[in-house]
Amino acid sequence: MTERVLPDWAGNDVLWLDDDNAFTWTYAKGESEPSGGLHWHRKQEAPGELSATPGWCVGGITFGGNGWTLEGKEPLTISPSLLCRACGSHGFIRDGKWVSA
Ligand SMILES: [Zn+2]
Repeated sequence: MTERVLPDWAGNDVLWLDDDNAFTWTYAKGESEPSGGLHWHRKQEAPGELSATPGWCVGGITFGGNGWTLEGKEPLTISPSLLCRACGSHGFIRDGKWVSA
């Protein structure tokens, strides 16, 4: 399954890093520049598991402070690497692509 479809609430502004990884922006109330984002990555659903994001694991990041640095938006580059505490997915977003660590 490599169909590039996220749950509806991910919105239409989706950056696909590859078939299995995507990024969406998050905004603080009233702000026009993103305050962070969500890293969507595929996962195997456990039988009977209830999920708001079936088939996807989602990790959130914030920019600035002790968070991540938005090096560039187009193409998207973020540092340092993204490590998902839920599933162990680990990699970098560089030049709009997902690079596994
Ligand atoms: Zn994960």
